[in-house]
Amino acid sequence: MRAPPPRPAAPLRFDTPLSAAPGVGPVRARQLAEAGFETVGDLLLHLPARYEDRRRISTVAGATPGPTTFCGRLTGLAAVRTRRRGFSIVRGFVVDATGRLPVVWFNRPYLPKQVRDGEDYLLHGEVRLGEDRASAGGRLELMNPSCEPAAEALHGGRIVPVYPQAGGLGPALFRRLLSRLFAGRPALDISLDPLAGELAAGHGLPRLDAALLALHRPEDGCDVEALNRGTSPAHARLAYGELLELQLELAALRARQVGAPKRHAYRVDDQVRQVAREVLPFPLTAAQKRVLKEIVDDLRRPQPMLRLLQGDVGSGKTIVAALALVVALESNLQGALMAPTELLAEQHFRTLERWLGRRYRLALLTGSAARVGLAEAVARGEVQLVVGTQALIQHGLAFHRLGLAVVDEQHRFGVAQRGLLQAKGDRPDLLVMTATPIPRSLALTAYGDLDLSLLDELPPGRLPVATEVVPAAGRAAVYARLAEELAGGAQGYVVFPLIEESDAAGAASLASLGESVRGLLAGHACAVVHGALPAAERERVLAAFAAGEVRVLLATTVIEVGLDVSAATVMVIEGAERFGLAQLHQLRGRVGRGGRASRCVAVHGEASEEGRRRLEIFAATTDGFAIAEADLAIRGPGDLAGTRQTGFTPLRVADLIRDRGWLEKAREDARRLLPRLSEPGSTALRERLERRLARRARQELAGG
Ligand code: ADP
Ligand code: MG
Repeated sequence: MRAPPPRPAAPLRFDTPLSAAPGVGPVRARQLAEAGFETVGDLLLHLPARYEDRRRISTVAGATPGPTTFCGRLTGLAAVRTRRRGFSIVRGFVVDATGRLPVVWFNRPYLPKQVRDGEDYLLHGEVRLGEDRASAGGRLELMNPSCEPAAEALHGGRIVPVYPQAGGLGPALFRRLLSRLFAGRPALDISLDPLAGELAAGHGLPRLDAALLALHRPEDGCDVEALNRGTSPAHARLAYGELLELQLELAALRARQVGAPKRHAYRVDDQVRQVAREVLPFPLTAAQKRVLKEIVDDLRRPQPMLRLLQGDVGSGKTIVAALALVVALESNLQGALMAPTELLAEQHFRTLERWLGRRYRLALLTGSAARVGLAEAVARGEVQLVVGTQALIQHGLAFHRLGLAVVDEQHRFGVAQRGLLQAKGDRPDLLVMTATPIPRSLALTAYGDLDLSLLDELPPGRLPVATEVVPAAGRAAVYARLAEELAGGAQGYVVFPLIEESDAAGAASLASLGESVRGLLAGHACAVVHGALPAAERERVLAAFAAGEVRVLLATTVIEVGLDVSAATVMVIEGAERFGLAQLHQLRGRVGRGGRASRCVAVHGEASEEGRRRLEIFAATTDGFAIAEADLAIRGPGDLAGTRQTGFTPLRVADLIRDRGWLEKAREDARRLLPRLSEPGSTALRERLERRLARRARQELAGG
């Protein structure tokens, strides 16, 4: 009997565990898992950080400073003794037919064991002018080159991927593993999902397997520049695929919330319009009208609304919400408005009482303002509009017929809290509002399950807040001028990044500076407000400020969100280098809310390079969206305000700025693709979507 031919190993797929990949033993698999690499796909998506162009091999005689590749014999290798512990130098020479060039490696003590004196290598590194003072005028040397045996190195592509480190695992390991994966190429089945592939092809993008090959084993003729910028077609294919999956996840989340029709309906007729006109305290801006129409159109649809209203600080979101609520109340439905702080809930309650109090029954529900009998009145439907804090979702509050739920300053809440508010009704319409403008690309990612409305116009008569940036040394003059303005009847804020010092280094805290600021402003009614103050005390101070009895508020960032005192026209921000750009913008939004000229002074201590850039941008523009774009460019999306609590998965390949065009396409495609996912061909995509949704649910449970 003849032995059967060896059975070909099962082809590797994206979801094959790495322990089944060539060159990965159990120990290696464990190390990789610790660094976050579980499957072949994880490895394939670990893209090179850059590419070294070794297509041109330089002769030793022709060497000039800059990154260079040589092919030659290594000779004279020797470890040089150094006096510093933990610091080592190895020297040697590379020799080719044209000459001899010194080579030096720093901190590579094992190198003499890895390379052999007298053998041929391909060396790639930086040629620079050496510091060898002995030889006149200095001489060229090759610094820290990588070396590969010439025999191995010379066949195959000469554009070499350099992988980023991950966990404790270095570039060389990734290069070896990925090279092994592709070496047995026919056994690698990465064509992946036919539906995604079809869509990508429709955009003129390469197949996924071709793209991965181009990224991990670039061909000699390829465009290295594009590879290094991340703009090659292969990069685009991966970015698109990644964004498509993210958008599918968001589309699925959306479908869960709005898939089935709602049970309540709205009345939008002349009578409602008449009421709205009577309620209106001022003419709406064109943007407010447009957004209100988008909202009312949503209310009239059979599916519940799921909409994010983004509008810069002071753009007038409250009146838009109020009018939408009027439509609900006139339709015999209840409304709810949830705000992140008691301060803001109370302010909204006062405003809405003023606008709507004559027609409807409103109630305030916060931790400290819960009223006996309120829950019953809401449950019976006698209270039509409840304004409150998280108390709205925490207590056993039940509505009679909740039609429209509004969440203000949505970025302060988690997705879970939004869901709890929705659960207070039978598929109510949901409007979430945020004054943290974020670039559209980020909004589509962080809030991709929502429809977006934009208030991109400020009410008439607003003057931009004149902004100055002043180093701490100029503080005396800042307060002298503030004192003068106060004497002239102005009202304002002084904001501190901290209540108390957390470290000694030049911190500007309320505790350390508050007294001296009070001294500089002696004779003007000052009051202090911060988060550690008892709620009742805080309310008292703010009410006194709103009433004009307190002329200067010394505050921490508790005033950052939503506070609306239009008489205040001056703000000094202490320790401005400690605030993020979005936060500075929010703070500044507390002034300039009336028609009067306002100003803001950012006083800063020692700032990092990035801190200085932030302050420059802050002074240069008052446009929240421009600021958000700049913030995204400086910091990247990871920790941009407003995205922290949204279950935002970091992107591995796509870049929200570079790939914004692909993002728009992916969003459209995902919404159309979702219903097709039940088709037989799309198992892989469907399974990955389910995994992502499960992971998101776990994160939300853990975080909210
Ligand atoms: P935000 O969008 O920051 O929540 P608000 O709703 O608090 O802004 O509005 C800021 C201020 O502008 C409020 O005092 C509000 O009454 C006023 N306002 C809003 N819209 C208009 C308008 N169309 N005309 C005049 N004033 C307006
Ligand atoms: Mg507001």
